[in-house]
Amino acid sequence: MTSQALLGALARAVDTSGAAVGRGVLAESGRHLAAHLGTGPYIVVADQNTWAAAGERLTFSLEDAGCTTIPPLIFPGRPTLYASYDNCEVIKAAMGAATPIALGAGTLNDLVKLAAFEMTRDYAVVGTAASMDGYTGAGAPMSEKGVKVTRNCKAPVVVIMDLDVVAAAPGFLTASGYGDLAAKIPGGADWILADVTGIEPIDEDVWAMVQSGVAPALSRPAALAAGDADAFEGLVEGLCLSGLAMQAYGGTRPASGAEHYFSHLWELAHLGVDLDPPLSHGGKVAIGSLAMCAFYEALLARDIAAIDLRAAADARQPWDEIEADIRTTFDGALADHAVRETKAKYASGNELYARLKPLVDQWPAVADRLRAQLVATDELSEQLRLAGASARPEDIGLTPDDVRATFPRAMYYRSRYTALDVAWELGIFDDLVEDVFTRIWI
Ligand SMILES: [Zn+2]
Repeated sequence: MTSQALLGALARAVDTSGAAVGRGVLAESGRHLAAHLGTGPYIVVADQNTWAAAGERLTFSLEDAGCTTIPPLIFPGRPTLYASYDNCEVIKAAMGAATPIALGAGTLNDLVKLAAFEMTRDYAVVGTAASMDGYTGAGAPMSEKGVKVTRNCKAPVVVIMDLDVVAAAPGFLTASGYGDLAAKIPGGADWILADVTGIEPIDEDVWAMVQSGVAPALSRPAALAAGDADAFEGLVEGLCLSGLAMQAYGGTRPASGAEHYFSHLWELAHLGVDLDPPLSHGGKVAIGSLAMCAFYEALLARDIAAIDLRAAADARQPWDEIEADIRTTFDGALADHAVRETKAKYASGNELYARLKPLVDQWPAVADRLRAQLVATDELSEQLRLAGASARPEDIGLTPDDVRATFPRAMYYRSRYTALDVAWELGIFDDLVEDVFTRIWI
């Protein structure tokens, strides 16, 4: 069972050629795998939880389709498997000549993705939770010698997502996927601003691939929290499409904006790693998404067309001052990283004037595009709450002041151009952050 939207995305995807999303598709998984990857041998890589959820049925389906398997590699169910390079080595050692199938969610998928890439081997994934959009992506975030790095690998050749399996997954995993998909709302708005300013034009096909399914996918939060399998179709498809769009685009812009930088920074600070289960990617992204939706509300409340752009461009801080500020905001290697990233998008004087002129000149039309893309912060917050996702800073162990302090850090953290940069360049950044915390959100 493959929808038109998925078929269209597969046609543009670089690595992934087969996807099956639907109720009961696990029983057909062997046939899909045989059609795209041959009859094996295969090795299923799981943990005790995901093996219990679908291991035997996957193996039976493979045998039924005439595929051979070698004994599965099953990691312990507790503590939660960690995305460390050691575990990747364990998979590589177990693989032999077999084609690996990741049976699990984010971490297992990332580990198998990296192991297969390093062994120049194709692989497949049978997803067991609607927890993130990385199933169909090429990146594998990994801890290596205590540092977080995203290794660029290849995406799976085949992705199988049985809605009955993912609906039965623990609720915190579904909540994470819901948060990760909600990020496409402010993330898309950031791409609109990068498009208007000529920094990163929108690819219309890729845009439609990601954005067309977001609203329906987020429309039934309570049914998702209740584990209603039919309600998962939109969410799972939306997450798969997001990953495929990143493949087609060759980067993460279609699926992430400044909201993800809040999450990355909290991840670097090891927020919630000691919890059981550890704080999820989507849990952090949900709070970043609310922060950015609120920031957009503050931006849209301003008459940007009335700003004296020449004066704003002339008032731009010189680079030396910005670099000094970055070095007081971050420590050590992260400061060097942020200096490099921010320098790449820094502009002043005539260059800055030219960049922002279309935005200011066409502001009513730009504001309409942004309003069509965004949802009210209160509304998104309520949807996240109904989905069982994090909806307030304290849900992820932060105070509003912690989130507030992350705004400038999120701006400096990556070269990607977002609403944070627009506001900063227009000289209204601090005012908008103030509005977020006094008027709009918390
Ligand atoms: Zn994400």
